[in-house]
Amino acid sequence: MTNVGISVKNYSIAFGNTQILNDVSLSVKQGEIVTILGPSGCGKSTILRSIASLEENYTGEIFINEHCLIANGKRECHKDIGYIFQDYALFPHLNVRQNIEFALYKLNKIERQRRVDKLLKQFDLVDHRHKQIHELSGGQQQRVSIARVLAYEPKVILLDEPFANLDTLLRNKTKVWLKKLIKELGLSAILVTHDQKEALSMSDKIAIINNKRVEQFGTPKKLFEEP
Ligand code: ADP
Ligand code: ADP
Repeated sequence: MTNVGISVKNYSIAFGNTQILNDVSLSVKQGEIVTILGPSGCGKSTILRSIASLEENYTGEIFINEHCLIANGKRECHKDIGYIFQDYALFPHLNVRQNIEFALYKLNKIERQRRVDKLLKQFDLVDHRHKQIHELSGGQQQRVSIARVLAYEPKVILLDEPFANLDTLLRNKTKVWLKKLIKELGLSAILVTHDQKEALSMSDKIAIINNKRVEQFGTPKKLFEEP
């Protein structure tokens, strides 16, 4: 299994008596953006939560490179994963700088400052660094949430409807910018959306979920352009 960022194999999950997903398989190579596309409620976030080790009530296997997330019946978190939530999940009582710095407590002060300063610059947040979260626009909050995740230098990022709370103009700008950033950093990314247009513009590959399973998996060209 060479050069595989994320691999989901024969994944199934039920909540109570309700089967949500059945025998889902997909893979993301290093540097690829794969979008999970499907209607609201089909289980997209549930897959992301499973990859982030926030859900373990599934069957099948999830690998991050060669590392199996549930090995010998034991759950193992993987520190290389960054998870960007739809509602950003920022800490309201911390300012911008403190939010970005939050996960870096294990690093020494100089390294912490170096990383945070770099991200503040890169994300055009230097002038906002002392602001509280509620003082920021939606687009700025989203940038803080992405900067906070990138601060711990993940290899894999999971993006749950990252554009949902942005207006149309900012959404288009952010799509271009985020795609470029993922490619530049060589991350493996899984993006979740119900928006076909978004999937088409962002993805190297798309997994279309329908009737509890991956109905199609391939490049946008293959899925939407060829007869
Ligand atoms: P999507 O992200 O595609 O909108 P979700 O993964 O959030 O869908 O949810 C899929 C389905 O599973 C929904 O019907 C949701 O209500 C249900 N669900 C999600 N999490 C739980 C849970 N912890 N307990 C029970 N049902 C859940
Ligand atoms: P504001 O910061 O008030 O939202 P703009 O959206 O016009 O203002 O963006 C200001 C700067 O931030 C520009 O230099 C632009 O390239 C950059 N920028 C815009 N959107 C993003 C984004 N999603 N992430 C990072 N930088 C962005």
